Amino acid sequence: MRIPFIAGNWKMNTTATEAEKLVIEMLDNLDRIKGVEKVLCPPFVSLVAINMMLQDSFIKLGAQNMYFEIEGAYTGEISPLMLSELCEFVILGHSERRWYFGETDEIVNKKVKAALANTLQPILCVGERLEENEAGRTEEVIDRQVTAALNSIEPVSNLVIAYEPVWAIGTGKAASGEQATATIQFIRDVLTKLWDKSIAQDLRILYGGSVTSANIAEFISHPEIDGALVGGASLKAGEFVNIVEQAAEIKGRTRTK
Ligand code: PEP
Repeated sequence: MRIPFIAGNWKMNTTATEAEKLVIEMLDNLDRIKGVEKVLCPPFVSLVAINMMLQDSFIKLGAQNMYFEIEGAYTGEISPLMLSELCEFVILGHSERRWYFGETDEIVNKKVKAALANTLQPILCVGERLEENEAGRTEEVIDRQVTAALNSIEPVSNLVIAYEPVWAIGTGKAASGEQATATIQFIRDVLTKLWDKSIAQDLRILYGGSVTSANIAEFISHPEIDGALVGGASLKAGEFVNIVEQAAEIKGRTRTK
């Protein structure tokens, strides 16, 4: 059974003081919600403090990126070993990393390997750009990104994939539940081809791109969609708690049918 999963990607938002305030605002209400794995991904500079704040809670912590080497002369980088003391998860291959910082499929592959080798669970992001979508190339792009990211990696169960169409991220133009479902089914086909059917059915695949409390139901009510990676809306405590509440309620209801 795939446990529903909602992660908040705070991106490059919140000072350390603001981040702690945001956690205080959402902690109790978020912690009370059962049946959903809840993950906060604040900026690196807040990981230590938030790790301490979450000690007695059921809320988990993730980083937004990392380098693939363990240690050494890589000024300004953060290693998987450093993160492994603080977090369970790390977002890898986010489209903002791919397009603003030139992360290639090969780099993403090295990062996925390094995360897994250091007990971090990758939240691997894949998604097509608008022009690729309009040219009918979504499946080709997704196939390439998933296959390359998992190149020479043995089947693993500690991996989450987020389908995030680039045209939907931060634009207010979310995909439809049907569009997201079709691509997520396709990702399961790619995983079946790469690994096997049972692992493809077991891995959680999320939708991400302009998810809010007003549209989460559209995604979460599809059995193929296991949750969401939430950007902008995760920066408002009430909004994020509401998204997680709806996910718990809808997945709980559809499961008992
Ligand atoms: C994201 O950062 O992964 C994201 C989906 O952002 P937003 O929800 O703001 O579109």
